[in-house]
Amino acid sequence: MPYKNYQDTLDNCAKYRANNKEKVKKCYTISQWKSRGVIETDQYTYEELYIAYLCCDECELCGVTLTTGKRCSTTKMLDHDHKTGKFRNIVCLVCNSSSTLRTDPTDSH
Ligand SMILES: [Zn+2]
Repeated sequence: MPYKNYQDTLDNCAKYRANNKEKVKKCYTISQWKSRGVIETDQYTYEELYIAYLCCDECELCGVTLTTGKRCSTTKMLDHDHKTGKFRNIVCLVCNSSSTLRTDPTDSH
């Protein structure tokens, strides 16, 4: 027998997502960072990182105008130290790739 409130649950879930788009997006973004190994520090909590990330419009390294959505060379990225997991800069995809290469040529991520 199917769960009787199944449809209600689905509807509520859809409603929740529609009403909390920013929250859902935030949770998703932070979970992506976690899975990539970005850690919280005394200096920056995930909350603070997310706000900084949202507010940042220009790459901190090359100054290009950052974009979100479809992945391209100007896609906004959170650059972190792959050894320690500590946040470094908010950068474009190009700078993120080159800074990874610069700091650790053996890192294949
Ligand atoms: Zn850049």
